[in-house]
Order: sequence, then C-alpha cells, then structure tokens
Amino acid sequence: MTERTALKDVVGDRSAKTIQRAFGYTLVSDLLEHFPRRYATRGELTSLQGTPLGEPVSIVAEVVSVSERPMRQRRGSLLEVAITDGTGLITLTFFNQAWRKKDLHPGVRGIFAGKVGAFRGGKQLTHPDYELFSGDISGEESEKWANTPIPLYPATSTLASWQIARAIGIVLEQLEPLDDPVPDSIVASEGLLDKNTAVRYIHQPESTEQWQQARDTLRFHEAFVLQLALLQQRQEALSVGSTVRSPGHLVTQFDEHLPFTLTDDQVHVGKEISADLESGHPMHRLVHGEVGSGKTVVAIRALLQVAQSGGQTALLAPTEVLATQHFRSIHHTLGPDLAGKVRPVLLTGSLTTAEKKKALLMAASGQSLLVVGTHALLSDTVQFADLGLVVIDEQHRFGVEQRDQLRQKGSHPHLLVLTATPIPRTVAMTVFGDLDVSTISNVPSGRHPITTHVVALDDTPDWYGRVWARAKEEIGQGRQVFVVCPAIEPGEVADGVVGQESGDEESTDTQLPAIGVTGMHTEITQMPEFSGVTTAIVHGKLPAEEKDLAMTRFASGEVSMLVATTVIEVGVDVPNATMMVVMDADRFGISQLHQLRGRVGRGSHPGLCLLVSRQPQDTLARQRLDAVASTTDGFELSHIDLELRHEGDVLGVRQSGGRSGLRLLRVRKDHELIEKARSVAKATLDASPDLADVPALRQALDRRLEDREREFLSKS
Ligand code: ADP
Ligand code: MG
Repeated sequence: MTERTALKDVVGDRSAKTIQRAFGYTLVSDLLEHFPRRYATRGELTSLQGTPLGEPVSIVAEVVSVSERPMRQRRGSLLEVAITDGTGLITLTFFNQAWRKKDLHPGVRGIFAGKVGAFRGGKQLTHPDYELFSGDISGEESEKWANTPIPLYPATSTLASWQIARAIGIVLEQLEPLDDPVPDSIVASEGLLDKNTAVRYIHQPESTEQWQQARDTLRFHEAFVLQLALLQQRQEALSVGSTVRSPGHLVTQFDEHLPFTLTDDQVHVGKEISADLESGHPMHRLVHGEVGSGKTVVAIRALLQVAQSGGQTALLAPTEVLATQHFRSIHHTLGPDLAGKVRPVLLTGSLTTAEKKKALLMAASGQSLLVVGTHALLSDTVQFADLGLVVIDEQHRFGVEQRDQLRQKGSHPHLLVLTATPIPRTVAMTVFGDLDVSTISNVPSGRHPITTHVVALDDTPDWYGRVWARAKEEIGQGRQVFVVCPAIEPGEVADGVVGQESGDEESTDTQLPAIGVTGMHTEITQMPEFSGVTTAIVHGKLPAEEKDLAMTRFASGEVSMLVATTVIEVGVDVPNATMMVVMDADRFGISQLHQLRGRVGRGSHPGLCLLVSRQPQDTLARQRLDAVASTTDGFELSHIDLELRHEGDVLGVRQSGGRSGLRLLRVRKDHELIEKARSVAKATLDASPDLADVPALRQALDRRLEDREREFLSKS
C-alpha cells in the first residue's frame, strides 16, 4: 500500500465513506495529512473554562458523578453524568441510554467530544461521543501511559477524533516506506527527521519531543514543496517568449507633461517595469504601495511603453465605480494628445448594447490601446488585436484563475498587479511567490498626514454629537465628507465584503444591528447641522447610473456629504474630501479601514478619520480600531493585523482550507522557515532543474498540481 492507494482499499468501504463525507478525503495521503490539532495526555485534564458554546470540542476529563432519573413529560430515563477538569463541571446528558452507567464510573477518565450547549446556567454535552481510558495499568507502565500524547484531530459530529486516529493507525500498519521529498543532504543539514519517522511521530508519538520534531520536519516539507512549486512556476513563466516592448517617445512625452515630478520610488519601480517589458519574457510583477502613493502613474507609464509598439493594455478593476474612476482619471492624466493616441475605452456590465458593441470593436480591431473594465473584460466576447499588458488593480479581489483568464486573450502578455493592501514579505513569498514584488513606500511629498480617532460611544456617548459638529465645520470650509456604513439597510451587511476579513467571532460579541446607509442618510438629513447641505448615497445595490451620478456629483463638489458602503473603498480620488466618518467601524477589518481612510486627505488639506464604535473597551474589535488609529504605517498595520487574525484568513478564502491549503505552516510565525525553505528550494532547483535526483519531490510537486486541479474541479 502506498500514499496513492484509495482509502477504501485500506480501511474498508464504510469507514472510507464516512471519512469522505466528513472531509472529502479519498486517498491514503489525504488522511495522512490530516494532522492533529493538538495533543492531550491522559494524565492532564483539559481546562473547561472558556470552552466555547456551540463549537465541537474534545476534552480530556474525569467523571465525578452519575445520576439516572425518569423523564417527566415522556417515557424513558435521563442519564446525567458530570465531568470535571478538577475545577469546573460540564454535564453529559443521555436519553434512554442507562446502559452507559456500566462504563461511566466516578473517577474514570476519557476524551469526551460533542457540541457544547448551555444548560441551567451551566454547560452540557448532549449525547457526546467518548472514549474512556482503560485504567488497569500500574507501576512504571502507568506513568508512561499517563504521559503518552494523545493526538486530537479536527473532527466532525459524525467522525470523532479517536475514530480518525484508528483509521490512521490501520493505514500506518500497512504503509510501505515513504520516500523523502527533501534531498538527503538537506535532511542532514536541517536536522530533519526522515519522512517515515516524521509521519509516524506526528500521528503516534510516544513523547512530546517526538511530535514536535515531526511537526518541524513536516512544516519544513510543506514550505519547501510550496516554494519549489512557486519557483518552478516562475521559471516556466520566464522560459516563454513575449514581444519586446521598448520605451519610446510616448513615455517621454507623458513625463514631460506631468504636473509633478515622480517620487524616487516611482522612478525606481518604473525602471524595473520598463526592463521587464523589454526583456522578451512576460513580466509577472506585483506593485505594492500605500494608498495615494501613485501606483496609477506607474501603470500608465507601463501602458505607454507597450502602446509604443502598438500593444494593447487591459486594466481590470474590481468594481464598476472604480473602473469608471480609473478610466476618467487616466484619460485626464494622459492629456488630450496622448489620449487621442491611446484612445481608451471603458467596458463594464452596464453599457448599452450599442456602447458595448463599439467598445468591443475598438478592442478587437486594435484601435484602442487601453481597455479599462470590470469582470466584463473576462467575457469571451472581449477580444484584442495585440494584448501586450494586463494590469490588475487591487489584486486581493481577484483569484489567480481570473488573472489567467485575462492573460489568455493575448500571447504571453505582461502582467502587472497593483495592490494597496500591505503584504508582509512572507505572505508575498507564500501567496504571490510566482510574482516579483516592487514596493512604492514613500508617498508624494506635500501630502498631509491623516489623523485618526476612535469615537467610543460605549464610553463617551456624547461624542456622537461632536462627530457631526466637526463634519459641519469641515463642510463650512468648503470641504467634503464621507460617511461609511457597514450595511445598506440596518443589520443587512452590505456587498458581502464587510466583516469577513476579521474572521474573529469576538468582534461581534455585542450584537447590535449594523448601521445602514439609508437609515444613516435619513438621520443626517434631519440633523439641523446639515440643513441646506447637499448629500447623496452610494451603495452596491443602486443601479449603475445612479451610483455613477452620485459619485460624479461628489467628485465635482456639488455634493458635500456622501453616505456610502465600502464601494468607495478602493481608488476613489476626490482631493477635496477631507473627512471620513466610519460608523460601526469595528465591523471592518484593519486593512479595510486603512484602505477606506486613504480616501481622504489626498489633496492639499489634512485628512481626518473618525472611527465610530459602539463596542465596549477590551474587545478585540476595539483593539483593532486602536491599532488603526495608532499608526498610518501600512506595514506596521499589516503585522498587527496578522497578530490579531486567524491564520486561514491571511491567505484569503481561496487559499484557506481545501486540500491545497496550508496545513502546518503558519505564515505569521514561520517566516524564517519560509525564507530558509525558499533558499534551499532555489539551490535544489539550480543543482537539478528537472529534479531527477529527487523523484519523491517531483511526485510531491505533481501531487500539489493534481490537488489544485481537484480542488478547482470540485468548485466548478
Ligand atoms: P494610488 O497608489 O492610491 O493608486 P494614485 O495613483 O491614484 O494613487 O495617486 C494619488 C494621487 O496622487 C493622484 O491624484 C495622482 O495624480 C497624485 N500623484 C501621483 N504621483 C504623484 C507625485 N509624484 N507627486 C505628486 N502627486 C502625485
Ligand atoms: Mg489606485
């Protein structure tokens, strides 16, 4: 039996079915990579304090008392068993299962698994699964028995941890020796266990040291294979040829007419991009830069370099508002002469049939050298004469598949990804490892810093009035104000964006319905402060024309106050907007808030951002707000964000969970390991480009691809 053997051939049809239903596993390797969440010992008891309600838990505990009584309303009996960690109690309840009394004596220990419910002010597990530790072991054996780690696996209500352990036990008994994916020399130099030992130690350790060593080894394997795959992907990408795009007078003309001088970083990143475009191989570059750091200018210069030889650029934006905004601002920045040469067109879902036809024709005939659009660009009807460059704004909204879908429309076009979401280096290496990364870290000088304050209504309710008084002042000085709400209607979270980022349950521990745009707008228009002030609303459910109209009126200064959802999060550029009020700010994630406040203070006046929250102090939600208020440094925030967030969220939905999700590797804590794995992977690939010396590694890589395909198929 090998790793590729079907599970049903090893554990039997029934178990295999249960396992597949619970986790989707079909192969031995799937099960072997189902690693324990943690380890318990029989000698220790799990603290019952803080066991979360409504969550499946596995606890090691001791039975204290057992009582049986007839049920009042119905026939039958109720068995109640109290278990303890030495301090607290949880009640186990069983209906009509009095026979369990036989095993559940006071003093017996075991693992109990189930969902925790509330019960008469206490906690209870109804019909839990359990496995009792047999206690008839004495002497030396007994100490060993008490200290042997018991793996606790991620389990479901139909498949308990010990059932998983049993299935893995059966697999391990029959498994043929596994080949190491890591070359021998690295196993030695890194002090790793061999793969066989590591797999056994992680599932059936005899001591804490054993599973720790195993975990370190398997973590290294994971980082190593991942980095190798990414490096290989890069190598492959670089081995194809693409049209050489040399710079010429278009870029020069653009630079000469710019009303400002480029920042040093813009110049530097511009040179990197220019060299990529001329290299004869497709560029794969991620440009990361703070909000307002001037990424658009960098992208325009790239598109002009491509346009020099007649190449077209497709610019993909995540929302219609942003696509429109980009289109207008690029048009404007190019100036009439260059705009006449580039002939930009806009392609979004809400064009009329005639407009759309015209735009499609401009793209297909090659007359337009820049097509700006939303997802509509991905449609099969969109064709290009010579697509030379794909620019993707705000990468985190698009998946790799979409990126590739657009690139298929040309022959190995260059790829430029722009993002303002700060990406810690290790995340960049892990998630975007197939891209080169450039960073614009300085913002154009003359920009005023944004001041951010938390308005904590739970502590100081009267500050609510001061928020609006301040807004009135700002408007009185001829400036404009954004009011951002998490929902459209109260409690209905808007646009599917809000709150998902944080992923922490604590953030909504005080359950108040989220403040909605429409209600907020009504409230504002009724405030005496704002009589005579022109206001407007924008949210995702408005028809495109209305959204557009509101944005245009705000951009032109006609509207002084815009009440909106996060549709304004990215890219909206209104230099006269100086203040932003974020309602229920605790419902937004750190990077989302950072993005949002980047919308103000873009002109020559300082910006102010007020984060209004009804959450009590000491909640994680409030900590996040304090963090955002404490610094405007996006990198620092990205680290705080990582600290406060769960691991899975770091990689986004796409990467978390699923078979190809990270298992043991933690992007937050394992940066040294990831760096190390990358350099070792690079050396391995340099020494043996086809990996002929390490067949197991080649297999591991093939499997990774296969897993990705399986995952992809299971989604479509
Ligand atoms: P982002 O990186 O957020 O996309 P933009 O490219 O939209 O930033 O630039 C923000 C604003 O700064 C724009 O109005 C742009 O014209 C201006 N800008 C860009 N580069 C410079 C510069 N070097 N000096 C002054 N202003 C600049
Ligand atoms: Mg931008």
